[in-house]
Amino acid sequence: MTPLKSQTKAENTSTAPQQNDKLVTALLTWYRTNHRKLPWRAKPGGKQDPYVVWLSEIMLQQTTVPTVIPYFLKFKKRWPHFASLAKSSQAEVLSAWAGLGYYSRARNLHACAQRVANEHGGKLPSSESQLQTLPGIGPYTAAAISAIAFGNRAAPVDGNIERVLSRLRRVTEPLPTSKPHLKQLAEELAPQRHAGDFAQAMMDLGSEICTPKSPACTKCPWQHDCEAFKTGQVEGLPRRLPKTKRPTKRAATFVLLSPDDRVFIRRRPAKGLLASMHETPTSQLQTRFPTDPTTLAPVHANYRQAKAVVTHTFTHFDLELQVFVAILNDKQSRSLSGEWAKLDQLEAYALPTLFRKVIRQALEKKLKKPSRVRKARRRP
Ligand code: SF4
Repeated sequence: MTPLKSQTKAENTSTAPQQNDKLVTALLTWYRTNHRKLPWRAKPGGKQDPYVVWLSEIMLQQTTVPTVIPYFLKFKKRWPHFASLAKSSQAEVLSAWAGLGYYSRARNLHACAQRVANEHGGKLPSSESQLQTLPGIGPYTAAAISAIAFGNRAAPVDGNIERVLSRLRRVTEPLPTSKPHLKQLAEELAPQRHAGDFAQAMMDLGSEICTPKSPACTKCPWQHDCEAFKTGQVEGLPRRLPKTKRPTKRAATFVLLSPDDRVFIRRRPAKGLLASMHETPTSQLQTRFPTDPTTLAPVHANYRQAKAVVTHTFTHFDLELQVFVAILNDKQSRSLSGEWAKLDQLEAYALPTLFRKVIRQALEKKLKKPSRVRKARRRP
């Protein structure tokens, strides 16, 4: 691999407007015949339903396209517009979201639908600044919705687009330090016309062509203008600062079963990690496993410990759960406050993937598998 030559912002990776026009034209031409066909997308040049764009963009935050598709179709069928989603309860939305992860998105989705229905007459505002006043809509999502749903000149920049721009302009400053610079490059490039198609074309180029490993430069509409390609520096870009190690937290969780194949679950607090979702009773998260875990159980019983520890990755930490299992008698069951869910009907509950893993581990057999959640960057 050719070593990266040093290049600073001072060297100015901005380009003349004519060159940007050429890049825009080349990418839009490529997009017309190479766009991904996705259930929330109109054809190139077509009109988009803002509700559909918003719903898909919220679901796509930190989640991949294949994972989102079945959830998107389910939500669109059940709640076809803001008004119907606003009328549902938060609990219904959380249950339908179960398995998709990052549950604050579901709570924000519901709160946002209510704000749009009550304060905006059921219509999503179109400007980035107004969109950012709504729950769950940050700068990236606001730019994506504004461009795709309303055709406004806006520049959404996600991980894929950062990679494309780092290579196109040979930005050697490492991520995340280079983010403001990359945002500026994206804003310079964004066209007045066909802004939505252009934003989606950038997403598709990053996802399908300018991939992290072995990008298909020979199929790229920007090959002849790409600075990294011309200088043989594609594989080394974007540069990244070394990651800091995520901490690990630990706890004990208790899978309480009834003789008629039910499991005890309860709601988590309305604030904090996995807020308002269901859980198997779980002790406080700490850096070490509790020394005497069964004393933390909600009921005294004859517990056995599952063979393996359940692990799960959250954005800011890794979690390890020791799993303790007991079958309760009637008297023990009556002492608990929560719900007894049938083991073959857990899909009806807002039970995060973590606790589905816990119950599977406790039973040492497979439950009906929820859709996979990957912690990958969006739209790889
Ligand atoms: Fe990415 Fe290669 Fe296209 Fe450059 S030429 S933008 S590195 S796919």
